[in-house]
Amino acid sequence: MKSAVPAPGEAKAKIDFRCLTEDCTGVIEFNLREIADRDFQAVCPVCHRAYALDAALRDKLERMMKLIEALRNSEDILGDSVVSVNVAGGEVRVPYALLLTRLNTLITLNLGDTPTDFHLWVEPSSPETFR
Ligand SMILES: [Zn+2]
Repeated sequence: MKSAVPAPGEAKAKIDFRCLTEDCTGVIEFNLREIADRDFQAVCPVCHRAYALDAALRDKLERMMKLIEALRNSEDILGDSVVSVNVAGGEVRVPYALLLTRLNTLITLNLGDTPTDFHLWVEPSSPETFR
């Protein structure tokens, strides 16, 4: 995915979830920063169903954003770190950077009363950060 270089220190985090309307194939996508706005409303691009995020959900997403920013500020440290996983016959070392950039995070939060999977996409601040 190609995109403009974000401003220094600005974490780019997108979040999306599948529309809850039966038979709708829409995916609601937004920037995690936008949810800090009280009037923020997510709208399905296909069926135009509006999702108002309640205070509890917004609070969780805001804290997620802060977590991402903390990770962003530690990129230079994490770039040199590995996660070691013991497996039968040895050890697998996964560069921490891979966990941040190559794996998609999935969090399940309640949207109203419906447990919903949110996909979180985070881009490193610079393509050069993780070699
Ligand atoms: Zn929809």
